Amino acid sequence: MKIAEILNEEKPGISCELFPPKQGSQLDNVKEVVREMALLAPSYMSITYGATGGTSEYTVDIANEIQNGNHVPALAHLTCVSSTREKVHSVIEQLKAAKIKNILALRGDIPKDADFPLPNQYKYASELIYDIKSQGDFCIGGACYPEGHPEADTIEDDLCHLKEKVEAGCDFLTTQMFFDNNVYYNFMYKILKKDIRVPVVAGIMPVTNSRQIKQIISLSGSMVPPRFRAIVDRFADDPAAMRQAGIAYATEQIIDLIANGVNHVHIYTMNKPGVAGAIFDNLSEIYVRK
Ligand code: FAD
Repeated sequence: MKIAEILNEEKPGISCELFPPKQGSQLDNVKEVVREMALLAPSYMSITYGATGGTSEYTVDIANEIQNGNHVPALAHLTCVSSTREKVHSVIEQLKAAKIKNILALRGDIPKDADFPLPNQYKYASELIYDIKSQGDFCIGGACYPEGHPEADTIEDDLCHLKEKVEAGCDFLTTQMFFDNNVYYNFMYKILKKDIRVPVVAGIMPVTNSRQIKQIISLSGSMVPPRFRAIVDRFADDPAAMRQAGIAYATEQIIDLIANGVNHVHIYTMNKPGVAGAIFDNLSEIYVRK
């Protein structure tokens, strides 16, 4: 099933994100995570694709496991920054063979010591999106950044490039994580003014340990509101309490989003079925599983 159809449904939807293993020896573990996550009956599951190659080798395998092994629609991420066009085309062919219809098309982070872009390679996600469109009947998603992409000079520049990306053929967008829902609501006003009208899935990251928070700030630049910082300050040294508080905070964010008309939320589950399961349990009357 195409994600665009899922996002059109009237009832609220919740999807989950996983990452593939680095080595083949961990493949069975990740497949077990897929099975446990599938039991929660998310509306779809996405699987990341490491831009620098380390975690890209098994993305198609895991997408296949999600969709054909566990009967949950799969969204395969695909990055282009470190890939040749030939490599990208071969991954698209593998996805076609596995009947995966949904691709989240991304540029990826530019590797620090690399020449970028290489001649005749992709520079921006919009170029990848054009390319995927010409290769078959895919439902294509793109990333968006309610607080602005870290490389963009201004939010206005970023929104203009987002508009170009949607016009290249995005059927939907998924946001970078945010910890203050007002960031999402303000972003929705801004993109409406730009006449960007595709569905925007809200990305929520349950932060369940103190290490994550440092990584999040350095990688995504997401703003941490005082309410959330107080939780980290109070519970960071107590893993069980931090886990419980992180799950409660993410649940509250999701309830507020759905109450305010946001119909689809994507949870960055970080391969933790226990955390995802606790959130789904908290939402059992709000997200009715099929
Ligand atoms: P783009 O849309 O190409 O934008 C990158 C930057 O270029 C932005 O600053 C934009 O404003 C600017 N830009 C775009 N077009 C132009 C133009 N024509 N002229 C000038 N500037 C332009 N990374 C992974 O490695 N693997 C994953 O699986 C993955 N999944 C993700 C999922 C989501 C939902 C999100 C939000 C991010 C994900 N990322 C992933 C991270 C992402 O790859 C990085 O944030 C990357 O730096 C940008 O990718 P993009 O597709 O948004 O790039």
